[in-house]
Amino acid sequence: MLLAIFKQFQSKNFAKLLVIQYLLNVMSKILGIIGGGQLGMMLTEAAQNLDDISKIIVLDPTENCPAAKVGAQQIVADFKDEDAIKKLSELSDIITYEIESGNSDVLKKLEENTEINPSPDTLRIIQDKLLQKQFLQKNGIAVAEFEKIENKEELNQMIDKMGLPLLLKTRRDAYDGRGNYKINSKSEIDDALDLFSGKTLMVEKFVKFEKEVSVIAARNTKGEISTYPVVENIHENNILRTTIAPGRVSETVRKEAEKIAEKTMEVLHGAGVFGIEMFVTSDDEILINEIAPRVHNSGHHTLQSCSTSQFEQHLRAILGMELGDSSIKTPTIMYNILGPKTFQGEYNVLFKKQDNIHLKMYGKLESKPQRKIGHVNIVDVENRGMDELFKQVEDLKKNLVIEPKES
Ligand code: AMP
Repeated sequence: MLLAIFKQFQSKNFAKLLVIQYLLNVMSKILGIIGGGQLGMMLTEAAQNLDDISKIIVLDPTENCPAAKVGAQQIVADFKDEDAIKKLSELSDIITYEIESGNSDVLKKLEENTEINPSPDTLRIIQDKLLQKQFLQKNGIAVAEFEKIENKEELNQMIDKMGLPLLLKTRRDAYDGRGNYKINSKSEIDDALDLFSGKTLMVEKFVKFEKEVSVIAARNTKGEISTYPVVENIHENNILRTTIAPGRVSETVRKEAEKIAEKTMEVLHGAGVFGIEMFVTSDDEILINEIAPRVHNSGHHTLQSCSTSQFEQHLRAILGMELGDSSIKTPTIMYNILGPKTFQGEYNVLFKKQDNIHLKMYGKLESKPQRKIGHVNIVDVENRGMDELFKQVEDLKKNLVIEPKES
């Protein structure tokens, strides 16, 4: 045995192997991620499978966050903490993020020394809904009618112009519909303005959409673009609950949605994966509702439905690698697991295993009402059709139980 090793050691092949290993170590990068929740966790898992990344560090305020649980090193601090972001940039070769509320001004300053993707300039546009909509409009991409609002008088004027209902939206730091107030009558104006007091605001015409769809799109640092097929999204209480991949839309809508996503990626110039949410109206008009500069909940199906998941695609994009195959190989329904409204605390998951159902829990210590704690992908491996998948979703709603953990 020892002799064999000695002989191999002497051989040129072994020397070559050592050189290759050394080069891989030198060339592979330390990845910094702002945010270590479920998206950071799944990015970490994808990164662990790529030779180009040697280590993952996340910045997240929750100790032992989901990404840390699967092996990322963690800096425990607020996402916007300037010193912590600086520290992350010093320790990393390349920075990305899983949340859009990062501090784009701080990131802009650090950009000279550390590669940051998507770029802080792209982040700055996207994280302000008004700037985002103005940017899309300027580039000829259709969005619902909108306007900036600074006071009650302007809101009244916009109601007269756009009609009711309309949506009052906070421009920044809103997710899962939390920054939206649907105004149905002028008597609600004061309540709506009170709710968002101190925040910068805009209004948007209410779109009577037929469907909500999204396209996960990727652009790598060389400018190559790839889009995943359009998917259909069903929300409950403004929170994404179900994604149907591929979406049940006409061929015209499918092509148009993917074209809009591609155009958006061309004008945005950012590198990475973006989630582009759209409304489809009854006459098949497509309007962009919102862009997320990051991997997106409506792309979780790609973990099973595609050969390249959105998480791997994001890493490929920011590292300047060739983008992977984004076609859907097997139709899939993604169903989000939300914390029950009945309790907050540690929990058990009761779930009956089935071959085509992939359960992914995010390792969150506590369940909180309506908090995303996991998802399932129900995959049509036997080609039985969407109706069968929907039946399985209905079964899951009854059989997958989140219950308080006995102490
Ligand atoms: P947002 O957080 O702005 O993406 O909005 C959350 C949800 O609110 C969307 O998924 C839609 O269901 C709804 N929504 C947002 N904007 C509009 C709009 N202009 N018209 C109708 N519904 C909207």
